[in-house]
Amino acid sequence: MSERLPVVIAGAGPTGLMCALALARRGVPVVVCEAEPNLTHDLRAGSFHPPTQEMMAPYGITERMHQHGLQVRRWQIRSRRGGLVAEFDLGLLAGATPYPYRLHLEQHRLTPIQLDVLRKEASAEVHFRHRITGYEQKDASVLVHFESEGIPGKLEASWLIGADGGRSTIRKLLAVEFEGFTWPEQFLVVSTPYDLAQHGFTMNAYVADPTEWAAVFKMPDAGPPGLWRLAFPCDPGLPDDTLLDLPAVQQRLKGLVESTKDFEIRYQSIYRVHQRVATEWRRGRVLLAGDAAHLNNPLGGFGLNSGIHDAVNLADKLAKVWRGEADASALELYVRQRRAATVDHVQAMSIRNKRLLEERDPEVHRARMQELVVTANDPQRAREYLLESSMIAGLRKSMEIR
Ligand SMILES: Cc1cc2nc3c(=O)[nH]c(=O)nc-3n(C[C@H](O)[C@H](O)[C@H](O)COP(=O)(O)OP(=O)(O)OC[C@H]3O[C@@H](n4cnc5c(N)ncnc54)[C@H](O)[C@@H]3O)c2cc1C
Repeated sequence: MSERLPVVIAGAGPTGLMCALALARRGVPVVVCEAEPNLTHDLRAGSFHPPTQEMMAPYGITERMHQHGLQVRRWQIRSRRGGLVAEFDLGLLAGATPYPYRLHLEQHRLTPIQLDVLRKEASAEVHFRHRITGYEQKDASVLVHFESEGIPGKLEASWLIGADGGRSTIRKLLAVEFEGFTWPEQFLVVSTPYDLAQHGFTMNAYVADPTEWAAVFKMPDAGPPGLWRLAFPCDPGLPDDTLLDLPAVQQRLKGLVESTKDFEIRYQSIYRVHQRVATEWRRGRVLLAGDAAHLNNPLGGFGLNSGIHDAVNLADKLAKVWRGEADASALELYVRQRRAATVDHVQAMSIRNKRLLEERDPEVHRARMQELVVTANDPQRAREYLLESSMIAGLRKSMEIR
């Protein structure tokens, strides 16, 4: 009987909404509980790799993202002192994916599309102002506790998915370790309409420098001219208000393109960056997905993409378990496949990307940059590099795990 109960999902972020949609389309009733009164609107991720676009296409989401998103076919590695080092053309992936480019669209423009599609599913409910506060695992169900506008309530679920972000309540209640580390330096994120293309930047670029490296993403914003979003490392010794001091931020932007004019700054913030993976992603009828299960630095744009990959993988297996076509061991396969993709690829690549940009030894820096030049100039090697950095190789490898 319990298998007729809905799956309850904590969190209406991109991961939770994708879990809900993929389950609903497979005939599974879902209830999404979101703590906040609305979808979150803060500026976060926004670079979608080819496999993520493929996974969202059957739901019509990818097509709608294209109406506003920027197709980024080429990206660069640059050196602050020497300019362009290497340029990669994602068109080399044409035979491997129908989307041989990155699609740039703000996360807060994705989630309303997901929610709109989800609301058309008769078996899906979304409740805002519903914060999940606890759960009790029973033999054949899980009793989920929530609080809505100060009033406590309970929901009986067949399964509970914790897609409630980096500070996940569900993960904390499971008491599993969030293994890994936090980088000592915070990241400064700044957005400006100033057009970096006039300095030769492609819409995605990474600038190497031992102290002042940068990641550059052009985002569509409300429409042309769009916004250039830059991430810089911050001195760990300085307080936030010093880091966000306008003249200091202007100085960093000016340094990137050697300009003397002030930039128009639309948005700036500081955030702390972690490399962490939960030691367990499933206990009984409770599962973790997205940032609740793993966090990484944004160099390479893997965080949000991984959450979508988790959601689609999990929904596929959980729907079979819910319908009685597979036993719960199918969920262990979700954990094995997605933990391997996370640990062996996303964690490894994002750490490697950061180390590459911030290399302090000039000899090592030169050798690494030279290696990238050789890779970019050899179409076969460039393709392999792009298969990996676009998350295609890691996904293929993880799907071989049985
Ligand atoms: C400042 C910032 C910048 C980032 N930049 C990048 C980037 O450039 N590239 C990249 O790939 N990634 C980036 N990320 C990471 C990316 O945004 C995340 O990977 C992505 O949001 C993960 O989605 P999620 O749905 O798993 O979690 P979230 O988006 O965090 O969603 C979790 C949801 O759960 C809700 N919630 C929390 N607790 C509860 C509860 N107890 N009950 C019910 N609901 C709850 C929250 O309100 C939230 O809506 C950035 C993150 C931050 C914070």
